[in-house]
Amino acid sequence: VLHNELEDLRGKIRVYCRVRPMSEKEVSKGCSNVIAICDEFSVNLESKQGQVKNYVYDTVFGPTATQEEVFEDSRRLIQSAVDGFNVCIFAYGQTGSGKTYTIQGYPGYPGIAPRAIDELFQLTSNLPQNYSCTITCYMVELYLQHLVDLLRPKSRDPSPSLTIKTDLKGMVYIPEAYIVAVSSAEQLKNVYDDGIKNRHISKTKMNNTSSRSHLIFSIIIEVVNNNEENEVRTVGKMCFVDLAGSERTGRSEATAESLKETNAINKSLSALSDVISALLNKVSYIPYRNNKLTMLMSDSIGGTAKTLMFVNISPASINREETMISLYYGSRVK
Ligand code: ADP
Ligand code: MG
Repeated sequence: VLHNELEDLRGKIRVYCRVRPMSEKEVSKGCSNVIAICDEFSVNLESKQGQVKNYVYDTVFGPTATQEEVFEDSRRLIQSAVDGFNVCIFAYGQTGSGKTYTIQGYPGYPGIAPRAIDELFQLTSNLPQNYSCTITCYMVELYLQHLVDLLRPKSRDPSPSLTIKTDLKGMVYIPEAYIVAVSSAEQLKNVYDDGIKNRHISKTKMNNTSSRSHLIFSIIIEVVNNNEENEVRTVGKMCFVDLAGSERTGRSEATAESLKETNAINKSLSALSDVISALLNKVSYIPYRNNKLTMLMSDSIGGTAKTLMFVNISPASINREETMISLYYGSRVK
């Protein structure tokens, strides 16, 4: 079933840029548009001084790109996960740039994850007769370097502290985390939605701290072929990561707490960029263990994994500085 065996190494980490439309708030503030989409592969950012810098990606999606169009490019990765590969789709960008819109989507506009779930069950319901498939998932958030289990039922005892382990095949697992088995796309989407709700109500503060944590949702796909003399078992994983907002400073007042959050986020985002740079430069030592985020993603970036990174940006002049940093991060990764 290995459709993707021959795909070349370069294709393993792809970086996409998605520019969201100008928001009403930005329009009403009189913001100008500082992003020009040159073609399918590059954007120009105009600096305050009027200088234009070009940034190149594997694909660029403009403000009019639909959720369907964006998913179409990720669709082939779902087959890879069924074939036993690890796949990771993650979104990077400042708060409000469209990460959640891209990964999760909004009512009426489902993002990549719910579409991937539909596709996954479509594919696995069409497996040949002697194949059986088991689908499980877990969901954690990383907040201030603490892992929180978002699927753990509330009625249970307080969550034990979560540890990140790697099995002999390099597959990451969290022994203490709740693993939920699902048998339909509907069920899996419900688990996903419920987990995300926990992300919000678990916060004590008034401000939306969900943008201050990294969300990691992993779907494990185990396919067994009972036909052969020796049972053949493949395990693939599909991982969706909605990263914390990349902005440098807290939006409002810089409290001690928000500084701590920002520091933790910066640490993990720079560890992630170090990992990707090391992989792209074919360095033999990949610094996965520098941060919990990269430890969690270590089976989904590098090796035989297929990774898709979205750099989400706003086109508005008010966000120019942060947009420049995001575009730079994305190009450093390339
Ligand atoms: P983030 O998760 O990066 O903080 P969101 O995904 O929540 O940002 O997006 C912020 C706002 O912009 C939301 O109201 C969302 O609906 C809207 N938005 C983001 N991307 C798009 C898009 N491509 N098309 C239309 N609206 C978008
Ligand atoms: Mg978000």
